[in-house]
Amino acid sequence: MRDFTIKMYSKLLEALKKESYEIVTMKEFLENEMWNVGGKICVLRHDIDKKPENAVAMAELENKKGIRATYYVRFIEGIYDVDKLKKIESLGHEIGFHYETLDKTRGDIDKAYELFVEELEIIRKDFDIKTICMHGYPLNPWRNLDIWKKYDYRKLGIIGEPYLNVDYTKVAYFTDTGRSWSSKARVKDVIPAGNYNEKHNLKAKSTPELIDIIKRKKPEKIIILAHPNRWALGFGDWTSELVGQKIKNVGKAFLKKRYENEDII
Ligand SMILES: [Zn+2]
Repeated sequence: MRDFTIKMYSKLLEALKKESYEIVTMKEFLENEMWNVGGKICVLRHDIDKKPENAVAMAELENKKGIRATYYVRFIEGIYDVDKLKKIESLGHEIGFHYETLDKTRGDIDKAYELFVEELEIIRKDFDIKTICMHGYPLNPWRNLDIWKKYDYRKLGIIGEPYLNVDYTKVAYFTDTGRSWSSKARVKDVIPAGNYNEKHNLKAKSTPELIDIIKRKKPEKIIILAHPNRWALGFGDWTSELVGQKIKNVGKAFLKKRYENEDII
């Protein structure tokens, strides 16, 4: 079976269900600091970077299996699609804000905060946003997260930011960034050294390898980040995405060095 298809994603969900993970939203996970409570708990995080229609397909699949996930959406024309997001929300999922206002203001933190407040206000007319998560554009020298070195999102009624508020020494974390579950292609999407994955030597390239970790190593707490646009609904969808991804990965390999020693959280 081809990897990074919606069919393979379905297998991943089945594995989580079979291993009796309680699947909660990011809001529930952060609000209750669930890395400190007992039992197997998983958060499915989805960043809607593009192709919101793929997010709807993923949301429907999860709903069929009785699973609730968390969808972070960019405030960009064509991606921030209220109708599609309403559909996703109606299936029981959490909608969060995938912000990139520091990218939009070219690194100006004060302006980025102002813009963040404005965008959040607009989104909140349609959705009750409680958690936020940065979008990362690998070619910029700043990270959208840097806004919070100066400002406090809690003052805006935001419960948390998974890059800042999760204890990754206690939570296994897997991301499909670069269309591989391994860390090589990651630039901004990193968590601090000494994290759970490192301590327990958890590495997965393919989804079957990730499923194997879930079945054999059974980490108690897991966050899985899957970008809906990377999971193909059909064959044509998969090839065009793969070609684009390969070009990006070449650029990222050069960039990686610059970020290697930087503490992202
Ligand atoms: Zn993103």
